[in-house]
Amino acid sequence: MDAMTLDREYIAGCYGRFPVTFVKGEGAALWDDMGREYIDMGSGIAVSALGHGDKSWLKATTKQLRRLCHASNLYYTKPQAKLARLLCEKTGMKKVFFCNSGAEANECAIKVARKYAADKFGDEQRPVIVTLKNSFHGRTLATLAATGQDVFHHSFGPFPDGFVYCEANNAQELEQLLRDNPCCAVLLEPVQGEGGVVPLTKEFMLAARRLTEEHDCLLMLDEVQTGNGRTGQLYAYMHYGIQPDVVSTAKGLAGGLPMGACLLGEKVQDTLTPGSHGTTFGGNPVCAAGALCVIKRLDDELMAEVRQKSDYIFSELSGCKNVKSITGLGLMIGIETTKDARALVEGLLGRGVVTLTAKTKLRLLPPLTIPMEQLQRAVRIIKEEIEA
Ligand SMILES: *Cc1c(COP(=O)(O)O)cnc(C)c1O
Repeated sequence: MDAMTLDREYIAGCYGRFPVTFVKGEGAALWDDMGREYIDMGSGIAVSALGHGDKSWLKATTKQLRRLCHASNLYYTKPQAKLARLLCEKTGMKKVFFCNSGAEANECAIKVARKYAADKFGDEQRPVIVTLKNSFHGRTLATLAATGQDVFHHSFGPFPDGFVYCEANNAQELEQLLRDNPCCAVLLEPVQGEGGVVPLTKEFMLAARRLTEEHDCLLMLDEVQTGNGRTGQLYAYMHYGIQPDVVSTAKGLAGGLPMGACLLGEKVQDTLTPGSHGTTFGGNPVCAAGALCVIKRLDDELMAEVRQKSDYIFSELSGCKNVKSITGLGLMIGIETTKDARALVEGLLGRGVVTLTAKTKLRLLPPLTIPMEQLQRAVRIIKEEIEA
């Protein structure tokens, strides 16, 4: 029985899938069930950071899988503890809460912000969180409410209260919102991913850091997509020379296994107390072993490579026929063309290149380790399709 037929009959209809069934991956190559080969320029939405079946990652995860797959957070496990130390050492954050997805990492951030303010100013005295228009923070009810796009605010109400939305890169509006509302935090994506690959300006990020300090609010960065080397720095905030109070991440963290993390800075390192938050699967030893491998691999050398590959894509595609703009940071790139983005993705799939859309743009999120030869081949085909 083929997967498409079974899917139509048995899987909840929430995905508008492309008509391909992937069965195998190796490095930056994917194969479908007909034996056709593709170049992966999407990484399963920024997840397969080291590509498919990376040797050191496979070794780390299978070794842990044989040893111990799950214990729960009632007990200590070694990979989780080591991963937390490595993340803190590499980021200057103080503590980590592990979970299973981006939405959960953001839920944790939201709860941390609310509790930080509740502990300091009294319960529900300063509950409001500023997020950005055109943002995306996840699919749970609270993260949908945090998402600053009206299209996400239908059908599932009532939503949790306490979110106000600021135009991206408008520091004046942010100042006004922080003044007019009892705020505990500002939550931002350094590069708006689903919103169309829109990086925040340095001025805005610096203003957000300064204003949150002035108002005793937390600066919380949603690095679910931008994190884990995607932008050419371990975390995107490192491009801006600031230290945030909270960083949420997921997608590429465990190199293909489901894992999220909420990194807590000095101000909030003791906010979560026993019983105040938790998860059964979070920090699972196999996922943690995978993430430990990924974070170790994201060294200065690989980050420099990511920036070089990014420069290559920008220089090859900017100024091309039918290209209106190209935005992004590192290997997170959005290309606005005169063509319909979904049709472009379909055309490229037909030519053996897997890409994504973000709003009206073509979006590229290749594995960070994609060999130059495959990247060149993919970019040549992308260019041909855009110019055709
Ligand atoms: C993908 C994404 C999320 C949601 O992550 P899930 O793992 O799908 O829950 C949240 N924020 C951003 C910025 C994302 O890109």
